This record gives sequence, C-alpha cells and structure tokens, in this order.
Amino acid sequence: MSQKINGVKGMNDLLPGEIEVWQFVESTARTLFGRFGYGEVRTPMVEDTALFVRSVGEETDIVGKEMYTFEDKGGRSLSLRPEGTAPAARAYIEHSVSNQEPVSRWFYMGPMFRYERMKTGRYRQFSQIGAEAYGAKEPAQDAELMDVVVQFLEALGLKDVTLNINSLGDDNCRPAYHAKLVEYLNAHREELCADCQQRLERNPLRVLDCKNEKCQAVAAAGPNVLEFLCEPCRAHFTDLQRKLGVLGIRYVVNHRLVRGLDYYTRTVFEFIASHPALGTASTVGGGGRYDKMMKGLGGPDVPAVGYAMGLDRLVLLLKEGGKTFTQRPDLFIAVADEGSQDEGLALASRLRREGLKVDFDTRGGSLKSQMKRADKSGARFTLVLGEQERTSGQAKLKPMAGGEPVPVALDNVAATVRAQPEAAAPVPAA
Ligand code: AMP
Repeated sequence: MSQKINGVKGMNDLLPGEIEVWQFVESTARTLFGRFGYGEVRTPMVEDTALFVRSVGEETDIVGKEMYTFEDKGGRSLSLRPEGTAPAARAYIEHSVSNQEPVSRWFYMGPMFRYERMKTGRYRQFSQIGAEAYGAKEPAQDAELMDVVVQFLEALGLKDVTLNINSLGDDNCRPAYHAKLVEYLNAHREELCADCQQRLERNPLRVLDCKNEKCQAVAAAGPNVLEFLCEPCRAHFTDLQRKLGVLGIRYVVNHRLVRGLDYYTRTVFEFIASHPALGTASTVGGGGRYDKMMKGLGGPDVPAVGYAMGLDRLVLLLKEGGKTFTQRPDLFIAVADEGSQDEGLALASRLRREGLKVDFDTRGGSLKSQMKRADKSGARFTLVLGEQERTSGQAKLKPMAGGEPVPVALDNVAATVRAQPEAAAPVPAA
C-alpha cells in the first residue's frame, strides 16, 4: 500500500463545518472596516527577505528564528511573509500612494508563516486580519484604529478582552530609557531565564514581555518607560488617553507592554483575552505606531499606525461560545421513485436559482435512506417528490422540527418556504 502523506506540522486544514466560523469573522471584519473607510489590500505571500530584515528587525525572534526563508531558482532570497505590516508598507511605497492621497487606510487578511514552537493558539501557518493607517501622526488616528478593533470584537460578541496601551517614546527619548533598562537588567542578570539572558544582549526590550514568572518580577520593578518620555511623546500619549475617553473605550496603561517588533515608536497596544481556551496565547491582537518605518524602507516620510489580530485565536474563542455558524438547508428534496430522480434534480436546481439553500441526494436510493439523510442535514423542510406529486403539481413541506405538513404547489415552493415562520432548528442526528 502507498504511504499516506500528511499535512505540514503546524499548518491546519479548514473543512466545511469549521470554515463557517472563519467566514463569519472575515465577513464581520469586512463590514466593520468598510464602515471606517478602510480599503482591502492583498499582497503576495512571498517577499524579498530584506524587507523583513530591515523593518521587523534582524534581532527579533520573527526574523532571527522563525522565518521560512529560501532561495528561488534565480538565486534570490525570499521569505514567506511572517506578518502583514511590512508587505503593506512595501506596496504603499512601490505604488507611490502618498502622492495620490494624504491619508490612506488599508486592511488585509490572510495567512502568515512563522516557524514557531506549537501549542494551543500558536501555529506555523496562521491567519491575521490587520489594518494600517498612513499619513496621520495624530493620536486621534491611534484611537480610531483601536475603535475599529473594539467595534469588531463587539460585533463578534467577544467580551472579556482588555485593551492595554503604552508608549515607547521616539528616537529622542527612547535611548535614555534603553540605557537605563540595560543597566538595570544587567544588574539582575542572574535572576533572568536563559532566553532573557540572550535577549539582554540582542533585544533587551523583549525581556519585558517574557512569560517566565521570575523575569516578570524583575521587569515589574524595572525602570518605567513612561517616566522617560520627552514632552511631545508625553503629550501624544496623554491626548490618546483623552481620545479613548471621548470614544468610551476602556483601557489599562501597561508600561511593560513593548511588543516583539523593532519598528514601533510612541503608541503600542494589545488586546488581551482572559479565557482559559487560549492558554498562554492570550493576546488576540496588537499593534502600534511606526512613524519611521516608511523612510527606513526608502519611502516617503509618512507616519503610520497599524495592528494585526490572529484569526485562529478569535475562532478558538468563538467556538468556546458554543454558537453554531453553519447555515442549515431550507429544504431537502427526496425522491419516492427512480422515475422522479431527474425532476428532483431539476427542482433543486430551480429553487437554488430562486435563492433557497437546497439539499438533494444525487445518489438516489431508497426513500428511507434519503429521509435519514434529510434528518442529518438539519434542513427546515423535506419535500418528497413522487409520481403523484409530479402529475398533480402539488406536494407537501414536512417541517423537520415536527408539526403539520404544509401543502405546496410545485411552482411555488420558494415563496411558500420563505413564508413559513422559523421554528427551532431540528437537532441533526448524530
Ligand atoms: P504579532 O504580529 O506577533 O504581533 O501577532 C499579532 C497577532 O497574531 C497575535 O496577537 C496573535 O493573535 C496572532 N499570532 C501571532 N503569531 C501566531 C501564531 N504563531 N499562531 C497563531 N496566531 C498567531
């Protein structure tokens, strides 16, 4: 026997039955972004490796350890995108968008790739929904972006998600904080985990978001970035908080929030869920301001703020909520005899054209087996089509949740089904 080939570790298949919750999240995102005037952008899955090295940063875990990098047949170093901000920025620069409009608001959704250690809510191919606003440096833009996320989570019905905010300052004030932090962490080197001892050399800010309890204790007693902000950065952060107040958005200031990427300046934020289903993967999304990145990538000096949310984690939370997202058929058409099979097929086709969701067993078979299938399908009604129905043009809609059959003319099925009040969904047979 040939050996079976499995999917790649950490990369999941999404099958019917599960995909519906993903579609619900995606369509809710599209609706919300539309309301806020964000247009969709789709960039390739693969980019020049240098794009991520120069924007995300060589010292980050993402670029240093987790990228899927390969050489193509032309000898170029390419990488599967590990995140969406850098590709969107690359496209923004390449298409000279800043020459066409002063402010652009984009969103994207799709798969990202990181070679990570897997656990619940952490995969090697995962999906993100993200948004970027280019051209506005004002705190109102940061607040508006957080508002989209808040309204999106509300629309999904997800509660118990807390917005954490912080400011990392800018080139003017961050060096002093950085120096103080390194001095402090060096003094506490022995108390840090092995990973953090390495981070201390390469990317000391990362020590602040280590999950290790000892490292957290060290970080908690360390210097507070907010005390190092220069006046313009302080004013920006204060105004952001005022704007969040205007929008009625609740938040907590968390001076240890740094995020793992190098490109942030001033505002950073995260949405953190308190649900056991996520284990330690409790951050459902986050982002921040990156006013220097465009210029660093050879583009115009355009300020920007963005964020990304992990779809996989949102889906885990929604599944815990126990809601069903699968749309059940309006009607199951069963045929009573072989001779009605063609007409059943044609009736199903016509009713689908008229907008009904119709299930029909293309295998035919006994009426009993078709009725079993009808039960399992969760359809609202079943219509049995036999010789008698075909000659009289009259049939019956059998409500699968129980109750009296409804007489129906075969040329008026769609309207009759639509006119029936929704009963409780039948429980599909196991
Ligand atoms: P980041 O780009 O690391 O800030 O991630 C933004 C969001 O994407 C996180 O809050 C997660 O919800 C999601 N995410 C990041 N990495 C993974 C992963 N390996 N698996 C699943 N979701 C992820």
